[in-house]
Amino acid sequence: MSECVFCRIVAGEIPSDIIYEDDTVLAFKDINPQAPVHLLLIPKDHIPSLLELTEADRGLLAHIFAVIQQLAREYELDKKGFRTVINTGDEGGQTVHHLHFHLLGGRFMQWPPG
Ligand code: 5GP
Ligand code: ZN
Repeated sequence: MSECVFCRIVAGEIPSDIIYEDDTVLAFKDINPQAPVHLLLIPKDHIPSLLELTEADRGLLAHIFAVIQQLAREYELDKKGFRTVINTGDEGGQTVHHLHFHLLGGRFMQWPPG
């Protein structure tokens, strides 16, 4: 059994509120939402962080951004705007070491982030 919580979600070992799935990407609601809409998009393959991405992942990345666009439209965030976040490493605030994209929307976002 994987130690990685997001690999376990991919495997169906931990329940989650899945809102999109295909061969390579899974999207589900964050368990601790920081905005009215707070989705997580992950590659199904275990990639620990942004730092492990390579040129060979360009197709995967383009696809993830296409899914982000699709979900932003589905959740009606495209007109008002939204925020997409990748936390990397301890000081970046990464707590789950499986690459994930936060899609946050439904309220005004602050800048700079905390
Ligand atoms: P990070 O801090 O690594 O950028 O983001 C990890 C996110 O995963 C957090 O927002 C946290 O709430 C979410 N999370 C952690 N464990 C689970 C889980 O078991 N299920 C779901 N749906 N989200 C989780
Ligand atoms: Zn993983």
